[in-house]
Amino acid sequence: MLSRVSKSGVWVISGPSGVGKGTVCQRLRAAHPEAFYSVSMTTRPPRPGEVDGLHYRFVSVEQFRDLIEKGELLEWAVVHGTNYYGTPRQAVLDAVDDGRQVVLEIDLQGARQVKQNLPEAKLVFLTPPSWDELVHRLEGRGTEDADTQQRRLATAKIELDAIAEADHVLENADLEDTVRSLVSLLGL
Ligand code: 5GP
Repeated sequence: MLSRVSKSGVWVISGPSGVGKGTVCQRLRAAHPEAFYSVSMTTRPPRPGEVDGLHYRFVSVEQFRDLIEKGELLEWAVVHGTNYYGTPRQAVLDAVDDGRQVVLEIDLQGARQVKQNLPEAKLVFLTPPSWDELVHRLEGRGTEDADTQQRRLATAKIELDAIAEADHVLENADLEDTVRSLVSLLGL
């Protein structure tokens, strides 16, 4: 029997807001805790149920700017024109040194920076089954006000145009199918 070939490396999971990349990555994390899942820094306030250090590290704008100045972020971006988000550099490099699969769930601006800083990183782009379905999912989430939803949809349009930059494209029509495809792609 052929053994599975492990393609260890850095995997950037991106795609438009509302496509479900957070849920997909949570599922992957629950099923495969042996991979390393980066916890991002953000200046966004926590949503109900979000835990500091688990979902994000919630920091002030001053703290975030300090991290940028000290070069402690592998990438960072202002997402949806409001809050800062960024990936702590050292944790990712340590996980790579340990030979673990590294999963980053970040926006496209960040994905481009990661590809620039770590050219061996692979961009996995999740797409919705249709534009209407994306609007439906974003509205159904109910965590943002109408203005925020509109901003996120505007960003999503731009992000969908960047599909050609992806190393792999996965349509997220069915959560379980998408997770199965990712598991197979990452060799987990
Ligand atoms: P949310 O506020 O809904 O948790 O995330 C908003 C967007 O920020 C999502 O598209 C998410 O992928 C992105 N994001 C989360 N963490 C990071 C990060 O560390 N860097 C970048 N560039 N984007 C991130």
